[in-house]
Amino acid sequence: MDIFYKDAFIVDVEKGESRKGSIAVKNGVIAEVGEILPEKGMKIVDCEGLYAAPGLINLHVHLFGTGRPAKALGGGKAQERLVKIVKSAPGKAVLRILMERAAETELKSGVTTVRTVGDFCGIDSELKKKTASGKGRARGLRMFVSGYALTVPGGHGAGTFALVGNSVRELEELTEQAVAEGADLIKICITGGVMDAKKRGEPGEVRMELPYVKAVCDRAHALGKRVAAHVQSKRGAEIAAFGGVDTIEHGAPLGAEAAAELAARGGAVVVTYSPALPNAKLGAEATKLNETAKFNSETVMKGMTECALQAPAYGIKVGLGTDASCPFCTQSGMWRELLYYSVCTGVSAAEALKTATLGNARILGIADETGSLEAGKRADMAVLFSDPLSDLTAYSRIKYISAGDRFIKDPRPSRMPEIEKLLDKMCAELLSAQRG
Ligand SMILES: [Zn+2]
Repeated sequence: MDIFYKDAFIVDVEKGESRKGSIAVKNGVIAEVGEILPEKGMKIVDCEGLYAAPGLINLHVHLFGTGRPAKALGGGKAQERLVKIVKSAPGKAVLRILMERAAETELKSGVTTVRTVGDFCGIDSELKKKTASGKGRARGLRMFVSGYALTVPGGHGAGTFALVGNSVRELEELTEQAVAEGADLIKICITGGVMDAKKRGEPGEVRMELPYVKAVCDRAHALGKRVAAHVQSKRGAEIAAFGGVDTIEHGAPLGAEAAAELAARGGAVVVTYSPALPNAKLGAEATKLNETAKFNSETVMKGMTECALQAPAYGIKVGLGTDASCPFCTQSGMWRELLYYSVCTGVSAAEALKTATLGNARILGIADETGSLEAGKRADMAVLFSDPLSDLTAYSRIKYISAGDRFIKDPRPSRMPEIEKLLDKMCAELLSAQRG
């Protein structure tokens, strides 16, 4: 079906301005943009008074969860039980359904490309094949997948969403196996995370040392794949940079030498405020976090901001992702990540939008295919009720979505009202503080 999006304000994320015009889409590709007329036989979609903007790219997603805070992945017996169930045949069948719904929710919230960074049993890779062939609930969504993350014994995610290599040789084999099973990238966990830290100030304790990181990166690069690394401390960032990592996930303060190394490789940092900010701002009643975890969340968040502010000065790209599946990181919440990023770093709405679209596309190496509304690019677009160049909540109200050749009218992403309510209140407060 060829579609003519008529009379919209067309948002140019590169220039940070919008202009009145129409967009012609043929076979899922933008054929023409501007003051144009429809061709015979095109479906006309009236966009009068609406804003046509690029689909968002979520660079840090786990599809296995909903973002509802749960004890089951906080370690201990409950987690053991859950992981055992997930790996059974009926468990996998349930997970397949959950992950496809999660991908559908991402799409219906204006995200047209996701990159998974640690999911169970190769289901993300399976789902990618399905959606790419135009099938299922998430068809239209473009996916880059990692499969399981890789780490060392005691590393972040070990035994859950990460496989463990006990030696350099084992990690090399796991890397080869992941690529053979369809991974587009390799995700590793270098430092610990907020939830696994036992002490104040230790969210970023290094678990995976340099030789192990280097082994994975060398093998992945030899196979033509990039490496994304979970990092939440300065030492972790050094190991990532000198080990050969391409993207530092979450972020931490960068030393000058590490930054130069990452920049020379054309690397990037992908910040994820969506878990850190609610954990730091919402009360203990909502988060169920103890003082240590709250303190560590704040530490991680400050490190992230320092990293995001430093990176451009070193020529390092900054990308955005939600860490969906973590507590309070819902699959419908990418729009909030833009808001959090703007509030924490002081960048404008227009800059946050550019980062989440064209910027993220550049990090993925697909800026010639998506990330902005230009002729020849894939028709990845959200038509919004308000101007995303000035309104950080614009993607929370979507009229139409175009994802390649899929067209969705009045999308209703699956949302969890009780969590949305808490987050909406927090976002409103953040915005009014930003204005004030
Ligand atoms: Zn993650």
